[in-house]
Amino acid sequence: MDISFYLLSLAVIPLFAARGALSLLCMVLLAEYYVYLRYLGIDPDSLLTQLADAPGSSLWLDASLHEWLISTTTPLALLTALPEWLTSPTSIGVLFVLSIIEYIYNKSPDMRQLFPFGESELKGIFAATLCFSLVGGNIEDLVQHFKHAGVTSDFAGFISIEYVWSFVVGCLTWFVSGIRNGFYLLLTEMDPTDEIGVRNLLSFVETSLGIFGPLFVVLMPLAAVIVAGLAVLILYLIKYQLEKREAKQYRACTNCGHENHLCAPNCGQCNTVMQSPVAVGWFGQATETPITNLHQHKLELLENKRCSYCAARSKENGLNIDCEVCGKPFFGTIEEIDAYLAHLRKKLPKTLLVTAAFSAIPIVGIIPGILYYRLALISGLRLYLPRISNFWARWFVRLGSLTLLFLQWIPGLGIVSLPLMCLLNYGVYSSSFNRQREKHISNKPAFEAQRQIQSPSLDTNNTK
Ligand SMILES: [Zn+2]
Ligand SMILES: [Zn+2]
Repeated sequence: MDISFYLLSLAVIPLFAARGALSLLCMVLLAEYYVYLRYLGIDPDSLLTQLADAPGSSLWLDASLHEWLISTTTPLALLTALPEWLTSPTSIGVLFVLSIIEYIYNKSPDMRQLFPFGESELKGIFAATLCFSLVGGNIEDLVQHFKHAGVTSDFAGFISIEYVWSFVVGCLTWFVSGIRNGFYLLLTEMDPTDEIGVRNLLSFVETSLGIFGPLFVVLMPLAAVIVAGLAVLILYLIKYQLEKREAKQYRACTNCGHENHLCAPNCGQCNTVMQSPVAVGWFGQATETPITNLHQHKLELLENKRCSYCAARSKENGLNIDCEVCGKPFFGTIEEIDAYLAHLRKKLPKTLLVTAAFSAIPIVGIIPGILYYRLALISGLRLYLPRISNFWARWFVRLGSLTLLFLQWIPGLGIVSLPLMCLLNYGVYSSSFNRQREKHISNKPAFEAQRQIQSPSLDTNNTK
């Protein structure tokens, strides 16, 4: 096996770590398409020659590239040697269905709980399968060999360097996929409802990688390996930095040694009052500003879905949340829910003013303006809404916002465009929030009895 095989298999690692099934499907389709031309009676070689020779054409194929493409040692030639079982219509159908499942899986956190298998392991298996098939490996043979000779047998005559390499590529894919998942986890913690849209953007990039990556890998394997290596390195460094920053956000309780967040008013384990907690930042992180108003601070913690008592984050939805660390409810009584809503309402005028200032700048102001009102106001509501009601509200808001966005281009009118979008968001999500509140009122006795155990009352509890 020549160098192309190793380049190709290295370059596919990030593709498979991003989208396992989709990448394999597109690889197979690419290979099939090349073969498919032959089925149609078109000789791909002469087709390429024709394309290259077309008079005055600005096509990307020049003679040397064409020469290289049709030479037998290229990755493209390797791909056309994929075994029949992988390129059969059944396989393509199965891979297509798997790609759709994979897409839904990545889009919806709820779906993720339905899958019992490890995502990274599966991606590793996909990558290893592709490599194994590329060297002409027959999985049936391998299984038979294990059955007859056992694991301890002599593999010298059976397992070549290429087979071992396939296994290594599978493991590397599994490893890179692990880094990727850790990265997503950190992003989710910083911005649970994806207000700034980074995860949405990454998901789009990953899908594009799965679709167009294989073509890039096959046409420019060396460049693909370099880009892939750099991408993994950058991803790893960002993740490392974020983790380091996250670790600095905690300090040990002087009484029991429990690691509490720097924003925590109390220790989550022994209830000791923490000395000088700091204010909470835009993404729920600890800032360096000491707090001046404990009541206000507790409301701001809730705005970031942190427990108002021990500042631990919660991943639950709805208003009926108990802190996973100290066990205290996020909202002990209906009055506390109302206090929280009043706190957000007070922020509305300032948010509208700042948003109007952004809105006055044509086009350039759109993204910072939207980010501002989302982070300053809307996320505080959305964080507590169950995903289902959130889903419909989101679509309604999207369509309305799109309409309003057209106003932004009109000079003069532009200034009201973003504030109106903010109001629309606020209206829809706060009425959604109110419906949740009504639900609690209708079974208030139960709600409050359940919550009475150890309610961290927002204004009376602990002193500084
Ligand atoms: Zn403690
Ligand atoms: Zn807590």
